[in-house]
Amino acid sequence: MDFSSKLLENAVHEISQLPGIGKRTALRLVLHLLKQPEEQTTNLASALVNLRSQIKFCVSCHNISDVELCEICASPKRDESIVCVVEDIRDVMAIENTGQFRGLYHVLGGKISPMEGIGPQDLTISSLISKAKKGIIKEMIFALSSTMEGDTTNFYIYKQIEGLEINTSTIARGVAVGDELEYADEVTLGRSIINRIPFEGSLKAN
Ligand SMILES: [Zn+2]
Repeated sequence: MDFSSKLLENAVHEISQLPGIGKRTALRLVLHLLKQPEEQTTNLASALVNLRSQIKFCVSCHNISDVELCEICASPKRDESIVCVVEDIRDVMAIENTGQFRGLYHVLGGKISPMEGIGPQDLTISSLISKAKKGIIKEMIFALSSTMEGDTTNFYIYKQIEGLEINTSTIARGVAVGDELEYADEVTLGRSIINRIPFEGSLKAN
């Protein structure tokens, strides 16, 4: 792609780094911004800069938060004896939308994937295990997507907490195998959490 302007080229290059956005789409977006009032671009740019410089992760569940301890972890209405283990903030949002879960979350930040070079040490697993060892957690719900990476991650955590008195369960698969949680509709996802099944039972079924 030949650009008549270095400024244009730089902007297109940066935007095309985003997932799912090729050079053509990036160019369309940049030209769109140029047609809008300058303020819109300034607001977009400063929202991104502020996001990166000010964002925090909850010290307990690792969810994205504006404060040290997120609203969910800080709420006295939540049951801290039940922890739902999820991959990222999108899953927290999806499960919160069902209104069916009153426990806490633990956000792993990904799944174990040898193919992508992601090991347990790249995720927040050790923080989950130390929380588990404090003895407050009575049940851990694995709510990772049902892919090979999800299953590997569940099993790794399960092995780490074996012997602690913690019931493990996995969400019932109204959520089809391989589906990402965030795409499940709220009713189905809500039901999957209520009808969760013991994790060991899910192992035998495989
Ligand atoms: Zn939290």
